[in-house]
Amino acid sequence: MKSYDVAIIGSGPGGYVAAIRCAQLGMKTAIIEKYSTLGGTCLNVGCIPSKALLSSSHHYEEATKHFEDHGIEIPGEIKVNLEKMIGRKQAVVDQTTGGIDFLMKKNNIDVFEGLGSFIDATHIKIEGKDAQEIEAKKIIIATGSKPSTLPFITLDKERVITSTEALKLKEIPKHLIIIGGGVIGLELGQVYRRLGAEVTVIEYMDRILPTMDAGLSKELNKVFKKAKCKMMLSHKVQSVERNGDEVIVKAENKKGEVVEFKGDYCLVSVGRKPYTAGLNAEAAGVKLNDRGQVEVNEHLQTSASNIYAIGDVIKGAMLAHKAEEEGVFVAETMAGQKPHIDYNLIPGVVYTWPEVAAVGKTEDQLKADNVEYKVGQFPFRALGRARASGDIDGFVKILADKTTDEVLGVHMIGARCADLIAEAVTAMEFRASAEDISRMSHAHPTFAEAVKEAALAATDDRALHV
Ligand code: FAD
Ligand code: NAD
Repeated sequence: MKSYDVAIIGSGPGGYVAAIRCAQLGMKTAIIEKYSTLGGTCLNVGCIPSKALLSSSHHYEEATKHFEDHGIEIPGEIKVNLEKMIGRKQAVVDQTTGGIDFLMKKNNIDVFEGLGSFIDATHIKIEGKDAQEIEAKKIIIATGSKPSTLPFITLDKERVITSTEALKLKEIPKHLIIIGGGVIGLELGQVYRRLGAEVTVIEYMDRILPTMDAGLSKELNKVFKKAKCKMMLSHKVQSVERNGDEVIVKAENKKGEVVEFKGDYCLVSVGRKPYTAGLNAEAAGVKLNDRGQVEVNEHLQTSASNIYAIGDVIKGAMLAHKAEEEGVFVAETMAGQKPHIDYNLIPGVVYTWPEVAAVGKTEDQLKADNVEYKVGQFPFRALGRARASGDIDGFVKILADKTTDEVLGVHMIGARCADLIAEAVTAMEFRASAEDISRMSHAHPTFAEAVKEAALAATDDRALHV
């Protein structure tokens, strides 16, 4: 029987990053993955393929709607070849997952393909291609999550689908009905809207992206409405039925009326749930909580002291970079180091266009905590760089403590915000004040100038360009 210092179950961004860090720290490391490709949800059916389709559909929209403004004329009709677009997406995925194979080899990590389940706290049974039993002193559970659904929905995976199927459709829907105006619904909704589908987003809450700052929800909602998406807020879905090629969704609005929507595809994007099926966690003494998450303490240690858990399968935001941080955290903890994660400073990004990004507290959270704060906001349309590229939607909003001027939250929507948010994270890690950011030189002309201007606005209401 092969024996390891550490074995990791699941090869998503949590698992494979943990494996690399463990190997870097000198541990003999194994990783077990039930699928034939490494990388988990993120690389195979999540972050990477969705961003590939967002990029392709963005190019199409630019070509059909905006090239002309730039004096670029394309004779003849511009068409989408969906098969090729999906093919390119798959090539990007294959290249990226292949990169993880390379990293595992480079770091001398043993990869086992098969379903891993606990025999006891130090032994794992692998069923599948590399079937065998292995032994490990320490084990990390990184089994991730799966799409969740509503109790009355039958996901037939043909017309009533999850994100996984939406990433490989064979035709552009005529009318895509999306249940859930969260991250997945909006990112994939925008993809298919750009490609020509009619899109209806049905959201239970009174705004899209309900966990983000309300200002961002409002601005993105405007963008979707401008693109002629139907945004049905405060609608509670009651039933989803399939009738041949038609899908009928019924939802109750605020007045208690039942509204009916007919489309040819329905994307169910109402969140994801932790995945522990087949793990046999109880055999190792690993406890789950009532939400099905693996229960962990502040060291991400489970109820079995040699077993840790990270990523989507435990509490907290279901984000790839959160899983990665936890992978490194656990590896370093096991090596006797004292790592730290500030969960307040894990940014959230929605890769629509304009992009939405945030870190720290929202206005609602600060109000609930009775924190006195000031707001500095700056619109992208006031920037020369934004006008030059034609990306003028959105703003940067900085929330700073009223007394100390410390930055408490940064919320932005606009071009390249997914990258701009890194400046806010850095500033907040160093506990910068709004004035600190406002006194740093930002290259001109850049989108980043909006961060400086918002900081100036927060410092003393003295933005320069509005
Ligand atoms: P996962 O990536 O889910 O990996 C878990 C792995 O464990 C899987 O490969 C699974 O097969 C394997 N496994 C499970 N059980 C066993 C077992 N018993 N034996 C062996 N193997 C097992 N996050 C972002 O930060 N940015 C984004 O842009 C983003 N986009 C997304 C888009 C979509 C459409 C989706 C669905 C998700 C997106 N996410 C994004 C979320 C992100 O994918 C997850 O937060 C991330 O993948 C979680 O990583 P993980 O390592 O915890 O688990
Ligand atoms: P989500 O939690 O982001 O959004 C789900 C939405 O569905 C919420 O707005 C919720 O109010 C709504 N909803 C719930 N029940 C409903 C009902 N009965 N009727 C109508 N609406 C209902 O979940 P998601 O979009 O499915 O994404 C799942 C996870 O994947 C998220 O946690 C997210 O962090 C992760 N993800 C991240 C990214 C990114 O970082 N860019 C992209 C995609 C997915």
